[in-house]
Amino acid sequence: MAKRDYYEILGVSRTCTERELKAAFRRLAKKYHPDANPDDPEAAEKFKEINEAYEVLKDPQKRAAYDRYGHAAFSNGGAAGAGGGPFDGFGPDFGAAMSDIFEEMFGEFMGGGRRRSQAARGADLRVDLDITLSEAFFGKKATITLHTAVPCEACEGTGAAKGSQPRICPTCGGRGAVRTSSGFFTVERTCPSCHGQGEIIADPCDVCGGSGRVAKERKLKVKIPAGVEDGTRIRLAGEGEAGLRGGPPGDLYIFLSVRPHEFFQRDGADLFCRVPISMVKAALGGEIEVPTIEGEKARVTIPEGTQHGARFRLKGKGMPVLNSSRRGDMYIQVDVETPVNLTERQKELLREFEKEAENNSPKSDGFFARAKKFWESLNSD
Ligand SMILES: [Zn+2]
Ligand SMILES: [Zn+2]
Repeated sequence: MAKRDYYEILGVSRTCTERELKAAFRRLAKKYHPDANPDDPEAAEKFKEINEAYEVLKDPQKRAAYDRYGHAAFSNGGAAGAGGGPFDGFGPDFGAAMSDIFEEMFGEFMGGGRRRSQAARGADLRVDLDITLSEAFFGKKATITLHTAVPCEACEGTGAAKGSQPRICPTCGGRGAVRTSSGFFTVERTCPSCHGQGEIIADPCDVCGGSGRVAKERKLKVKIPAGVEDGTRIRLAGEGEAGLRGGPPGDLYIFLSVRPHEFFQRDGADLFCRVPISMVKAALGGEIEVPTIEGEKARVTIPEGTQHGARFRLKGKGMPVLNSSRRGDMYIQVDVETPVNLTERQKELLREFEKEAENNSPKSDGFFARAKKFWESLNSD
């Protein structure tokens, strides 16, 4: 059975705040708590599900990983290693630096070795960016403002006051963990003196309070490549929050959404545009001018006798294909408009036309001829 979405389990939106998350968890946990539902296996299962979802979403790093990869972020299975599924949605150029993320993730969430440096890694940041279809066409240079943590300049990120040095933690000897033996068992736990850091700061920097980083508003220039699609995520490695006490920084993820366009619908690299034309133009033929995504005019020849819904292709007038010089096509679909607000004189002309009509509407004539035969065949039985 497919695993349910964690957000769905908790009944919250993907953009919910930590407070909303906590409130939703409390409400559901109360409702499905085993004490309140004795001998109800369904409630017990729900309770387990709720706890699991909350465990992940309450932790900003795990939540970021879940947002990126879904359940694959926490499964040991081959899906992660195969390099398939979890990367869908990243453009081909963003996939290259991905294997390091997986190492980090497994280190962090799978209980892997490098506890010390992992604990000190800065959080990943997410920025949502709205662009227009033309911006997706031309590409865009955007400046984004981040409220983030940057390394403290006063202590150069070490967290120790100027002139002092962090000391190796005497309790754990720098390992960040201590072992205690009781009988046959050896239990390893996070070092209580240094909280897993492996170092102790006797004289903390008074600018950052010993964390080695300070809050700051940062401006970052990013280049959105031409051809990006709605839902594209761009990863900027190392542009996330600074790590604790000189630890590695997190990454920045830009989630792009492309706003709908007045004229064009997009399907991959192709653009679709519906153009209403008059009945007379459809009948007699003629030329029309249609807008293109780059803001120019394209001439389209409408042949005599064009039907409602007819499609015309303008080759190479679609969207650029990401990281390629190719372009998709643009399709014009015509909607034939029946004239309205006719004057007496116009009605007269149309009646005149109707009198002369002969084989002008083969589809309509054919339909009613078949209908007539159909009725006759019913009556002859
Ligand atoms: Zn400092
Ligand atoms: Zn220690």
